[in-house]
Amino acid sequence: MKKRLLLVGAGHAHLEVIRQLRNNPIENVEICLISPSDYQYYSGMFSGYAEGIYSEEQTRVNLRELTKKSKINFVRKKAVRIFPERRKLFCEGGAVYPFDLISFDIGSKSIPPDFTASIARSVKPNYQFVEQINHLRERPTPLIVGGGAAGCELALSIQTYKNNHRIEGQVKLITSRAVLSSTPGRTARKLRSVLEEAGVLLWEHEKVTHIFEDYISTNENNRIRHTGVLWLGGPVGDPIFTDSSISVDERGFAFIRPTLQFAEYDFIFGAGDCVTLRSDPSMDKSGVHAVKQGPVLFRNLRAYLTHESLQTYEPQKHALYILSAGDKKGFLLYGGFSLYGRQAWRLKHKIDTDFMNKYK
Ligand SMILES: Cc1cc2nc3c(=O)[nH]c(=O)nc-3n(C[C@H](O)[C@H](O)[C@H](O)COP(=O)(O)OP(=O)(O)OC[C@H]3O[C@@H](n4cnc5c(N)ncnc54)[C@H](O)[C@@H]3O)c2cc1C
Repeated sequence: MKKRLLLVGAGHAHLEVIRQLRNNPIENVEICLISPSDYQYYSGMFSGYAEGIYSEEQTRVNLRELTKKSKINFVRKKAVRIFPERRKLFCEGGAVYPFDLISFDIGSKSIPPDFTASIARSVKPNYQFVEQINHLRERPTPLIVGGGAAGCELALSIQTYKNNHRIEGQVKLITSRAVLSSTPGRTARKLRSVLEEAGVLLWEHEKVTHIFEDYISTNENNRIRHTGVLWLGGPVGDPIFTDSSISVDERGFAFIRPTLQFAEYDFIFGAGDCVTLRSDPSMDKSGVHAVKQGPVLFRNLRAYLTHESLQTYEPQKHALYILSAGDKKGFLLYGGFSLYGRQAWRLKHKIDTDFMNKYK
């Protein structure tokens, strides 16, 4: 009888698994991708879309076409719970999928539990991205919460879109720490001046305490008016793992071993933002790691099914990040090194378009 492998979520690592299956099918295994949208949107190109450089089509992979080429099934559904002992996955709407082996690459969410009932918007899951950005770009004073790479990038790209399309208004950016707090001081200083020059209004070291329809309040007793809030305050886990009594870290990400197997289950694998390496819990949640895990995940899923030995994923010490800063300029960050300018953006454009071309 055929075995069944479920791939849950079409994140970066699963895209690579699906691509590799095209030329390396696994005999006697029925494979199915379960994901809530027909498309996987690529966050590396979010800033370029927000600024008006890329079209929606350029930022996404068509999952029906990709799975068809690899002869695997595609089910458009959102997974909500897993019963490991019964080897069953439950999806929204009540559908149940039995499996022999399962792998999760469902990414992260961004709105923390205290604010899920508020009017704050999120670009995660990533198929919400285009609708949210289209809405915010046209508003006079969108407010972005979060001064990490994603928050700064989107503040600059939305402001640049406004400036270039003569849409009135200023983007507001608020962060509980300093902007890019994990980078050297001079990078943050340069970023502050780029934000100011573009017209972004910045509040640092200030925490949002409440969100109201047209203003937010902060722990400094400030009230900041807005016409829409986008929350990019750092990744939080999907409730699926806690609801399924799977062991998770303090943000709700499932613990995995270096083989990418879940801490307590050999037949559950995971990659990308939704999991945390128990041996390296402080590893960044970033697309870079999700991409690097892809080939290891493919090899290990196959090895598990064919009773061969599994490899381990060794995270690289430093990863290359390039933030778009608007008007085709960028910040390149690698360890303590940083570089600002057009060259950085051109490199980002090349890396991102090469990545997308692999899956188109
Ligand atoms: C604006 C922005 C810019 C960023 N830029 C960069 C960058 O330049 N470089 C970088 O390294 N990182 C960047 N990141 C971080 C990056 O987006 C994430 O780390 C990365 O997307 C994680 O990839 P993933 O494979 O874990 O999941 P994702 O790419 O988020 O994919 C998850 C997939 O799972 C699906 N899914 C979600 N929930 C379910 C469910 N319950 N059931 C089934 N399917 C589900 C989704 O639809 C999606 O297909 C950026 C983030 C943001 C917000």
